[in-house]
Amino acid sequence: MRYGALEAGGTKMVLAVADENLNILCRESLPTLTPEETMPKMIAFFKEHPVDALGIGSFGPLDLNPESKTYGYITKTPKLSWCDYPLMPEFEKALHVPCMLDTDVNAAALCEAELGAAKGLKNCVYVTIGTGIGAGVYCEGNLVHGLMHPEWGHFLLAPRADDPAPEGFCPYHKGCLEGLAAGPAIEKRWGVSAKELAPDHPAWDLEAHYLAQMCVTALMTVSPQKIILGGGVMGQKHLFPMIHKETMRLLGGYLSCVSDVSDLIVPPACFPDSGLIGSLLLAKKALEQK
Ligand code: ADP
Ligand code: ZN
Repeated sequence: MRYGALEAGGTKMVLAVADENLNILCRESLPTLTPEETMPKMIAFFKEHPVDALGIGSFGPLDLNPESKTYGYITKTPKLSWCDYPLMPEFEKALHVPCMLDTDVNAAALCEAELGAAKGLKNCVYVTIGTGIGAGVYCEGNLVHGLMHPEWGHFLLAPRADDPAPEGFCPYHKGCLEGLAAGPAIEKRWGVSAKELAPDHPAWDLEAHYLAQMCVTALMTVSPQKIILGGGVMGQKHLFPMIHKETMRLLGGYLSCVSDVSDLIVPPACFPDSGLIGSLLLAKKALEQK
């Protein structure tokens, strides 16, 4: 038995094949160019390394409604060459194996729930803070889909009075979570790449405040037992204790079952492969559902 995985990102595509115990046997990374350039290479990889099922964790937005005519498509993505692209149908047509598509962050949440930081728990969220902000939500043992899929990057936040750019940078909502706290927002606000800001720069106190607002909203809505924070910006490890402290402050003593969030808000255990391993788990599910 061989499971295939594709972690489809805006800058790179990561492909892997694993055995039934999810040991990765081979992997490859390709730049994300246009579908005409990149799809034949990905299909060639899986023809060379045949799989019994394929799981795809992709950038979105995606159509995940099995009743829809465009089920399995990437929909209105800002990456224009992939807009309305039938990503999953194209793999089904070329490989003739069961395929399952979900968001990259839902795949990462699945990995962390089954094998990583939230192993054994019923509810967790995985949030990536990078070029954009996205969240995968795992509730009662299932990944959440509905009207669409979670889009936490566009949570509306209250800007802080001392924010030098309180209006935010999202083209749709200006000051949503992504517009205030993703890597590019940090760079636009301070004029320096987030990677280059010193740990004592005021940028991090503000960033911790916005991510803590998100954590409080998460705790009050889906009641996660773990909030897993990944993505490039969380490479700043000093952010974790700052987010813990600020989340406790914003909670204001309300959740009496929570006296300390340092074990609740954590980095991914399967970093940097949560999305890829989660995609292998989607392949496993695709085969089980066949
Ligand atoms: P993507 O979201 O494109 O998949 P990343 O998760 O690496 O990729 O996010 C890229 C963003 O994260 C950029 O805005 C970059 O400035 C920021 N970033 C990457 N590494 C770091 C770091 N170590 N510290 C702070 N910001 C970082
Ligand atoms: Zn927005």
